[in-house]
Amino acid sequence: MENCIFCKIASGEIPSAALYEDDDFKVILDMGPAAKGHSLILPKQHAANIYEMPDELLKKAILLAKNTASAFSSSLNCDGVNVVQNNGEAAGQTVHHFHIHVIPRYAGDDSGLGWKPHELTEEDRKAVLQAVSGRILP
Ligand code: AMP
Ligand code: ZN
Repeated sequence: MENCIFCKIASGEIPSAALYEDDDFKVILDMGPAAKGHSLILPKQHAANIYEMPDELLKKAILLAKNTASAFSSSLNCDGVNVVQNNGEAAGQTVHHFHIHVIPRYAGDDSGLGWKPHELTEEDRKAVLQAVSGRILP
């Protein structure tokens, strides 16, 4: 992808603070961290979002997120870790090259991550069960 910033970072065309690299991925520090150590798992192959990620590469990506979270847990003295992945602007995606956020969390930090819980209404419960049941493939 010619004008994709994460393709350029993953390929090394644009320099980044890389914590890890292999044939398929680069793990870099986010330039606007929610908390100290906030990192991004970037595949070198372009996929706009999770729907476009080849299954085998996606499996490697989530394992790398686990290993990155473990490394943070043992090296950054954090109290927790969020693993976050956004798809589509409505979900907060701003860079349309698949990535996984791995965010160390510190008790009392002000990262602002989270959501406002609403009530699960009877109407939504029925509608979602009816719409989605049978559509999630193993
Ligand atoms: P998202 O909102 O899930 O698409 O996340 C995009 C993330 O990429 C944000 O947390 C940005 O701070 C981060 N970001 C954007 N451009 C760069 C860059 N050149 N280097 C490092 N992080 C970046
Ligand atoms: Zn890309």
